[in-house]
Amino acid sequence: MTTTAFPTSLTALSSSSTCPISVTSPLICPTTAALPGLEPALLSARFITTFGRTAKTHGTHGFPAGVCPTVGAGGHISGGGYGNMIRKYGLSVDYVTDAKIVDVNGRILDRKSMGEDLFWAIGGGGGASFGVILSFKIKLVPVPPRVTVFRVEKTLEENALDMVHKWQFVAPKTSPDLFMRLMLQPVTRNTTQTVRASVVALFLGKQSDLMSLLTKEFPELGLKQDNCTEMTWIQSVMWWANNDNATVIKPEILLDRNPDSASFLKRKSDYVETEISKDGLDFLFKKLMEAGKLGLVFNPYGGKMSEVATTATPFPHRKRLFKVQHSMNWKDPGTEAESSFMEKTRSFYSYMAPFVTKNPRHTYLNYRDLDIGINSHGPNSYREAEVYGRKYFGENFDRLVKVKTAVDPENFFRDEQSIPTLPTKPASS
Ligand SMILES: Cc1cc2nc3c(=O)[nH]c(=O)nc-3n(C[C@H](O)[C@H](O)[C@H](O)COP(=O)(O)OP(=O)(O)OC[C@H]3O[C@@H](n4cnc5c(N)ncnc54)[C@H](O)[C@@H]3O)c2cc1C
Repeated sequence: MTTTAFPTSLTALSSSSTCPISVTSPLICPTTAALPGLEPALLSARFITTFGRTAKTHGTHGFPAGVCPTVGAGGHISGGGYGNMIRKYGLSVDYVTDAKIVDVNGRILDRKSMGEDLFWAIGGGGGASFGVILSFKIKLVPVPPRVTVFRVEKTLEENALDMVHKWQFVAPKTSPDLFMRLMLQPVTRNTTQTVRASVVALFLGKQSDLMSLLTKEFPELGLKQDNCTEMTWIQSVMWWANNDNATVIKPEILLDRNPDSASFLKRKSDYVETEISKDGLDFLFKKLMEAGKLGLVFNPYGGKMSEVATTATPFPHRKRLFKVQHSMNWKDPGTEAESSFMEKTRSFYSYMAPFVTKNPRHTYLNYRDLDIGINSHGPNSYREAEVYGRKYFGENFDRLVKVKTAVDPENFFRDEQSIPTLPTKPASS
């Protein structure tokens, strides 16, 4: 997984159709009707642009994309894309209404000329197997004037186990207006190793309504008024991007294109279908403390996600309870450090196996994980691709292969984990 942003452009339409807005890339200049007063500085490829423009021009609309607003549009949307409005609105790709792509013959195609199969494929199957995506046209979604965010932390000594166990029953089933991310991290407190469980949340509504909801549904969380802050939606985007002073700073900070400080990271992912027992969680906590550095991020599904068919886009994981991100970051350069941190991450992944989907063990495309299989593009290309392809796409892999075979039969667009063409049939005897 890299953070390189391709200059893919976004055109955004509000869902109410009363306030269309557009964001274009200076590199390709598609013909979209920009609103009067649109500053050139706001023309760019990243989601920060959509967030920035949405704040600037309306304040009542948002876009359900990356929790981290610096992700690039090209990889993010074509891999599905989710953010902290996933339970209310589903995936980023559910709000793409058109796209422009350069195909293997160098033609620029839009939705009409590429056809619904290819349009479907680049909406979750990854763009890189099919061509070069130049732009996406997206539809914005309504957001309320005030939203509420909170963070609650507990260690094992503060009964994090009960909170984490109950979270599994509440977070994927509660009001779709509420997204409660759970993060687990080994920490040292007073020289003793423990696990810190943090619930970080966005509620599309007022603090008073949130308090009533969670006092009833999730007393184990112990949410207090002091934990909560009301703000506008765009301020919440900045808050999620680790700006504690989000109610004071200007949304233009989202246009800062300086990259984050460089570090090294490895991500893996899993999907959970059945709540993990307290014994299971206890086991995982011990293994987290052994690993010493690895973090887990649980993202709840349910809500809108469970209403959309698993074949509507190539992303097949909609009916799961929650996604688990295995998250390892380190700063020391060099192969020795890399081997050690990768080894810890892979070991933990093996401990997680009993609690997650099996046959195949599902994985989120946008957390590219070369450990789950790679393609050498030799005679066994299709078989090799089935190994990672079923994990990323489930049964949608078959339709992706058909589309690939139709639009790029020579497999020009390929990488370690691209969609293969159908194997050519052996000559009949
Ligand atoms: C800090 C961080 C936070 C993240 N948070 C989230 C999150 O909240 N939600 C989420 O869903 N994901 C998240 N991700 C994952 C993110 O969605 C992926 O890394 C995604 O691939 C980023 O898009 P990109 O355009 O930067 O892709 P790149 O890394 O540039 O490319 C990824 C893949 O997409 C292909 N690609 C990129 N652009 C195009 C194009 N225009 N046409 C064809 N193919 C293209 C590339 O060839 C490559 O195969 C996060 C990643 C990071 C690093």
